[in-house]
Amino acid sequence: MLLRGGRVVDPSQNLDALRDVRIAGGLIAEIGEHLAPDANEEIVEAQGSVVAPGFIDMHVHLREPGFPEKETIASGAEAAARGGFSAVACMPNTNPPIDAPSVLAHVLELAALQRFSRVYPIATITRGRAGLEPVDFEALARAGAVAFSDDGDTVADARVLRDAALAAAGVPGVFISHCEDARLKGDAAMNEGAVSRALGAPGSPALAEDVIVARDLLVGMETHKLWHLAHVSTRGALAILRDARALGSRATCEVTPHHLLLTDESVRELGGGAKVNPPLRAEEDARALRDAVRDGTIDVFATDHAPHTAQEKTAELVRAAVGFSGLEIAVGAYAAALPDLPLSRFVELLSTNPARILGVPGGSLSVGSPADVTIFAERTWTVDPSSFASKGKSTPFAGRVFTRRAVATLVGGAPVYVDASVRQ
Ligand SMILES: [Zn+2]
Repeated sequence: MLLRGGRVVDPSQNLDALRDVRIAGGLIAEIGEHLAPDANEEIVEAQGSVVAPGFIDMHVHLREPGFPEKETIASGAEAAARGGFSAVACMPNTNPPIDAPSVLAHVLELAALQRFSRVYPIATITRGRAGLEPVDFEALARAGAVAFSDDGDTVADARVLRDAALAAAGVPGVFISHCEDARLKGDAAMNEGAVSRALGAPGSPALAEDVIVARDLLVGMETHKLWHLAHVSTRGALAILRDARALGSRATCEVTPHHLLLTDESVRELGGGAKVNPPLRAEEDARALRDAVRDGTIDVFATDHAPHTAQEKTAELVRAAVGFSGLEIAVGAYAAALPDLPLSRFVELLSTNPARILGVPGGSLSVGSPADVTIFAERTWTVDPSSFASKGKSTPFAGRVFTRRAVATLVGGAPVYVDASVRQ
């Protein structure tokens, strides 16, 4: 297959130029100018589009096993392909949780039954996500876990967390922190601030995130465990991360589309439809997050794709389920949040960096790499959740007009999503 005439943006090779890309045997075979098609070679015209190493969403909830009414690995992987993601890393807050090699093997079996996206399981840090006892990190890494996280909850006991990090120090697989102090958060349904006070709703302060960010960065430095902060949402978290890096921390972090673009004002209009953890914050926080993408503090764009049934999301604020469907709005939303971000940086956040942090294949179009490719373009479209492949149709961006979208996704050279507008 020949991808012809696209703007190839691959930060791993410092490449940003009009090039043809040849794919053979599932691998990138050749990149060059005006490559002559071989006899019978399939040609995809990519003029006017950007050809990038396949996007990797390192924070999604695929809900299997346990909650197939919210999402299945197959429906989530199809949503990934349509959103431009050739790979996803799925969080272990399933039922049962991914805390043992047998559960992990089951997830990998389900993942192998679909072809839309590579699925890399993340295992828990503690057994049953109960926060008491570390899992068998070595066995889980051997079974295929790419990272460890009790995401959805913080490991509340600092001693358990330190012991876990020491036990996992020699095992590949980054620790991913969900930073919320449960006691400070209480029964909050949104951010604590002017809007929560006006609505009379229980709020979670930025402090609930900041104290755990500080604690976890310190534990990471002391134990020399690789560390990654999920969904940072406060300006305090960013300041603490910068300070920790100045002290030698090598921790990385990610930001979601909703924390970049929205604030707690959305709760006035959408109620439970705007409920997410960590909550949508103040405008000063959203602005600080956008600045932190520009200045390099933030390493990764990750959606925290968290599908729920319509019923669970239309409940009143206090009872509504937590989180949004994110895979199919991501590319448009990131571009809307940061319209002037250089494309090389855009691709770095969506592909190069998540591949490096997780230690998975991909993140590069260098010759010999797996042909995981995302083609995207500046194209105006309107978010219509009823058209999502995801079973989760709830997004605070419904009806929003975005100007960038994925138009084709390839996994191992196989087109798993091709927009009707792409000429083949
Ligand atoms: Zn989380």
